[in-house]
Amino acid sequence: MVGGEGVSTVRNSRPDGEDTCRSCGAMIVWVRLVAANGEHRPHPLDSVPKSDGTIERKRGKTSGTWYGRVIPPVERNGRNLYRSHFATCPEAQAWRTS
Ligand SMILES: [Zn+2]
Repeated sequence: MVGGEGVSTVRNSRPDGEDTCRSCGAMIVWVRLVAANGEHRPHPLDSVPKSDGTIERKRGKTSGTWYGRVIPPVERNGRNLYRSHFATCPEAQAWRTS
């Protein structure tokens, strides 16, 4: 019997939003990145916050959804924040065309 080794493409199936970048293989986390106008869309972040990051990751109280918010420089106070994987992915061009 041949085992079906289908590749799952389901996104956000894990509660913490962890995933692997399909372009470069790095660990990433998915958030709903909230824009200034209140709209939010799925956005990949590097899985580890860094001192030069710009995005805060917070979990919605009721939905359990992870949200991201870009923190203005004056509010960062040297905190470790997440970086957009769009900015750090060596294969970022592949993201933009898909
Ligand atoms: Zn990547």
